[in-house]
Amino acid sequence: MDIVVLKFGGTSVADNEKLKLVSQKIIKLYEEGYGVVVVVSAQGKKTDSLISEAYELSNNPNSRELDVLLSTGEQVSISKLSILLNESGYSSISLTGWQAGIYTNMVNQSATIEYIDTKRIKEELNKNKIVVVAGFQGVNEYSDITTLGRGGSDTTAVALAAALEAKHCYIYSDVDGIYTSDPRKVTNPKKLVDISYDEMLDASNEGAKVLHNRCVELAKKYDIPLISKSTFADGVGTGINNKIESQKVKSIVKNDELISMTFCKNDIDTIAIYKILLENNVVPIEVINCDENMELLFKSNDLTKANHIIEQELSNPNVEVTNISRISIIGYGITNDSLILKRIINCLSCAEADIQKIDVNNGKVRITFKKLISNEILELLHSNLID
Ligand code: ADP
Ligand code: ASP
Ligand code: MG
Repeated sequence: MDIVVLKFGGTSVADNEKLKLVSQKIIKLYEEGYGVVVVVSAQGKKTDSLISEAYELSNNPNSRELDVLLSTGEQVSISKLSILLNESGYSSISLTGWQAGIYTNMVNQSATIEYIDTKRIKEELNKNKIVVVAGFQGVNEYSDITTLGRGGSDTTAVALAAALEAKHCYIYSDVDGIYTSDPRKVTNPKKLVDISYDEMLDASNEGAKVLHNRCVELAKKYDIPLISKSTFADGVGTGINNKIESQKVKSIVKNDELISMTFCKNDIDTIAIYKILLENNVVPIEVINCDENMELLFKSNDLTKANHIIEQELSNPNVEVTNISRISIIGYGITNDSLILKRIINCLSCAEADIQKIDVNNGKVRITFKKLISNEILELLHSNLID
């Protein structure tokens, strides 16, 4: 029996009506004779509200307990979907991360999957059941629940597809594929037929939330063809695979979720503070060392935790915190194409943007700004770089 893995995100399972649409997509593939494994996220914005509820109780919630709380969101979705499938006459079983045999390392809130024991899932598939697995969660060697980082259900789906040697892995969401830029941020994005693993990985790492970065990494490693499709419309979607079209801009990502923290070097031992942050699983994504200052760049998700650590470690921290934007232009070979580079620089000089730095390497150009910028510069770059 060929197996397919289908993943539905928060918007796709937000309410009963949407769950019905999801169940129809699942039933169609089941009727075609596939063994169907479904991965679902928490409903709507449930994970956001669970995080807020934890922070209402503590500025620094215990990370083990936070994962116990966060994992409940997905548990609600799997049971509801399975109830609905059974009610529709299709035998289905829901499995939490640990029941599905998903073993991770010990890092709460950003655990990585180390191993999947597929025995239980295969047993249920052999009983002709539709197996519905909770995304975003696993279990560590102490049988404690872990979560995989925000957006991590995509990674659960690809990891299961690899472990089960699935024929396809479909990632369903509220967009009908991968576009040249976030359709919520530019007016005329183009839908891509294909995008290579590397280009997609760059886009995800730079903040395109359409696919979790670890999911693309795994898909590349195990050569899993991924298909991004819409839950709410029919259509072919976009393939994420090995195909590469040379020297073409494939994706322009604007990330507004970056925090710059500038420390006065007189006040701190720079390496010591870096070490303490890492020990607390807060990873600065860049460190810029100037004569008098040191600047650390974080994802805004880490800000509360980073602030807490810094307040505890430095008696009188002299820190400037700024929310900044970065635009990344991605495409195989574009950094060797001086015409593309000239067009980028022309756009930036027209926009008179306050730029902190420009990096040109490995198939991407990254422009980091000194503050948050509007979407106008993104729009200008998009209209000049995408044919
Ligand atoms: P889900 O909740 O199903 O996991 P996400 O919200 O994580 O879905 O991902 C879908 C969203 O990703 C879209 O609504 C879209 O705004 C955003 N997005 C960002 N970049 C892109 C892109 N290049 N192509 C398509 N969608 C994108
Ligand atoms: N529910 C989790 C989140 O909101 C995981 C996911 O959606 O993939 O981040
Ligand atoms: Mg997502």
